Amino acid sequence: MRVLKFGGTSMGDADSWRKIISIVKERTPCVLVVSATSGTTNLLIEAAELAEKGNYKRALELAGSIKERHNSLLRQFTEKEGCDSKQLRSAYDHIDLLIEELERYLNGIGTLGELTPRTLDRISSIGERLSSKLLAECFNAAGFVAVHIDSGEVIKTDDAFGQATPDRQQLKTTTGKLTNEVQSGRVPVMGGFYGNAPDGNITTLGRGGSDFTASLVAEAIGADALEIWTDVSGMYTCDPRVVPDATSIPEINFHEAAELAYFGARVLHPATIQPAVDADIPVQVKNTFQPDHPGTTITSELKEEQNIKAIAFKRDITLITITSSRMLMAYGFLARVFTVFEQLKLPVDLVTTSEVSVTMSIDRTDGLDELKERLKEYGEVSVEHRQALLCVVGNNFLKSRGIANRVFGALADIPVRMISQGSSDMNLSLVISNDKVEDGARQLHREFFSE
Ligand code: ASP
Ligand code: MG
Repeated sequence: MRVLKFGGTSMGDADSWRKIISIVKERTPCVLVVSATSGTTNLLIEAAELAEKGNYKRALELAGSIKERHNSLLRQFTEKEGCDSKQLRSAYDHIDLLIEELERYLNGIGTLGELTPRTLDRISSIGERLSSKLLAECFNAAGFVAVHIDSGEVIKTDDAFGQATPDRQQLKTTTGKLTNEVQSGRVPVMGGFYGNAPDGNITTLGRGGSDFTASLVAEAIGADALEIWTDVSGMYTCDPRVVPDATSIPEINFHEAAELAYFGARVLHPATIQPAVDADIPVQVKNTFQPDHPGTTITSELKEEQNIKAIAFKRDITLITITSSRMLMAYGFLARVFTVFEQLKLPVDLVTTSEVSVTMSIDRTDGLDELKERLKEYGEVSVEHRQALLCVVGNNFLKSRGIANRVFGALADIPVRMISQGSSDMNLSLVISNDKVEDGARQLHREFFSE
């Protein structure tokens, strides 16, 4: 049995829904977890915030547009599938019901001028509550037996609204509903992203949480595979907008995928698939619009041989250097410096040190003035903007020879400001200036990926 998760872009319009149906038909028995239709969660949150700010009228307009986009999706589906619109009666009713619910919340928020995390969760879950029910109804109208399951009955969480933690133990029991349906030959369709707190209130798992839902369900039912369906064919050897001959990576280790995610591989956040990976369930990232493409498989396995998987980069990072003779032979210096970053909640990415100086990279600059001010106490502070992180991601770096040689050979004409290797076996990272990073990525990609 597989768990299939379809993200927002795959849920965008009637054509995509029909693609989903044909993908699912080839993959039964399976359980489906779906996101809201693309952009709907953002609209819901925006409506709630507008109501809080007193712009109730505009909030209601957004509610109206959410209603219209779902009604129109059903109309298009009926037309394209050639089914009878009467078959979708309960889907249309469901839209009316949820939009009325939304309007009541918006009214309440507008009246009180207050938006609590609890209310926001109720509102933001509406996208998945809509999409999952409508998709299940469309499956049935197309003659394929599906059943809608309310995720509140499956995903039990604590009451940390906005970022709730699911109870993984309870899932073993609650997912019984899903496996029963599958055994009866039906395809259960549930929304990702939300669950229920112990008192029955709706909670959400944090933005992008549908992958997490799918992964939890896969773990609980002991699925053979988890398939994350999106609008790209997996993770790429580099950003194809910069390196046109970048290709999809057939297989990647979970930790390598995590390295790539930091660099903005927006395909998925590895933390969200951890439960599936822990349970040794292979996770495949697949493209709804190119279903025959094998995509990328993410596994917990680590290959013995050295293998470069991708070239990744991140623009606009900032370097902070502190130079102080007090650092020489002293202890506690770095601890004190890092405490300042902690106080300002600024994550540090790379660190290099010499005997009398330390350089750190950060990718956010909010609070930079304050940071400089506080760090002055420890030495002379200098800041370099418009730097970029360029990184070779793979495995077994520490055992292999010649990689650094190839990296620096390929980048011979580019000044390298900072180097970091060795803290993990998974990457070699460099800092170069922003305006050289695209060339650098292309040069490295050519070095490691051209035949
Ligand atoms: N719809 C939710 C969001 O946009 C959850 C998800 O799509 O994963 O964050
Ligand atoms: Mg997503």
